[in-house]
Amino acid sequence: MRVMTLTLADVLAAQKTIAGIATDTPLVPSPFLSDKSGTEFLLKLEIAQPIGAFKLRGAMNAIANLPGDVPGATCCSTGNHGRGVAFAARERGIRAVVCMSSMVPKAKVDGIRALGAEVHIAGESQDEAGAESLRLSEEEGLAQISPFDDAQVIAGQGTIGLELLAQRPDLETILVPLSGGGLAGGIALAAKTIKPSIRVIGISMDRGAAMHESLAAGRPVEVTEVASLADSLGGGIGMHNQYSFDLCRRYLDDTLLVSEEDIYAGMQALYYEDRLVAEGGSAVGVAALLAGKLERLKGPVAAIITGRNLDMAIHAAIIAGDDVTLGETTIRGRRYGT
Ligand SMILES: *Cc1c(COP(=O)(O)O)cnc(C)c1O
Repeated sequence: MRVMTLTLADVLAAQKTIAGIATDTPLVPSPFLSDKSGTEFLLKLEIAQPIGAFKLRGAMNAIANLPGDVPGATCCSTGNHGRGVAFAARERGIRAVVCMSSMVPKAKVDGIRALGAEVHIAGESQDEAGAESLRLSEEEGLAQISPFDDAQVIAGQGTIGLELLAQRPDLETILVPLSGGGLAGGIALAAKTIKPSIRVIGISMDRGAAMHESLAAGRPVEVTEVASLADSLGGGIGMHNQYSFDLCRRYLDDTLLVSEEDIYAGMQALYYEDRLVAEGGSAVGVAALLAGKLERLKGPVAAIITGRNLDMAIHAAIIAGDDVTLGETTIRGRRYGT
């Protein structure tokens, strides 16, 4: 199993490599969520990264470790990994080509172009976008960087675990948004190697939760991709997953699911109570707490607020309590506090 080759030493090396580019982010208390949970509840603000999401950590580590003669990098991304690769490639002075499906919100596409990367729109799913990225790597020699199943990417994301325990050695639980599992796998590897008693819980939306389903099945399984407020958690984990599945299987204590309504309420609470703009995928930990899905939570708890790159028209509708229609689903709105 290749998972054996990824250790705390890789995460410590990544921390040195990305220092000064990916920011050490604040860990701030949430009085409201502490009150709701009955324990100290902290928010790790990855929204403070220069690209507005944690994915810069992994992308920067992967791109910094590419061979000297590489002409550029390519990836397929629901948005934030694309931003990370674009930013990191620009830092290093190489070309970046980001492949995305047509499901990705326009705000994310524009954000990536603004960072100087080329964008290729290919197909209607992450898998189809992945095939285009593979083609570019084979035909043009670009290094293909997986958003979650790459050792350097996982090591980079794992630096959040190091930072959390340096900030609060007394942490007992970490709530991590879970999609491909690079983030949760990296954080859990780092945090549990340093402090084996810490609990790490992965949280996904209940529509197309690939890692959750795969862990239950004991092997990578395909899921149908549907529109969700947590668009950055969409996509499969890859049928030939090399790292993130094994890491999650080995290190995660639990995974759980939240509904679109839960995510909507989580985004509202983060805005009204903590004054934060958080994209749906980053609000799932708070959503789970508010929906009563985190019983016997042991604190201090840190929830990773992973990103803030969302369509502001959708955010405005949620803040106003309006209905939101995504693809074929309508999420019933509700005024905050009613
Ligand atoms: C990518 C992403 C995640 C999930 O990370 P994985 O490594 O794919 O599990 C969570 N939140 C946001 C905002 C993301 O962009």
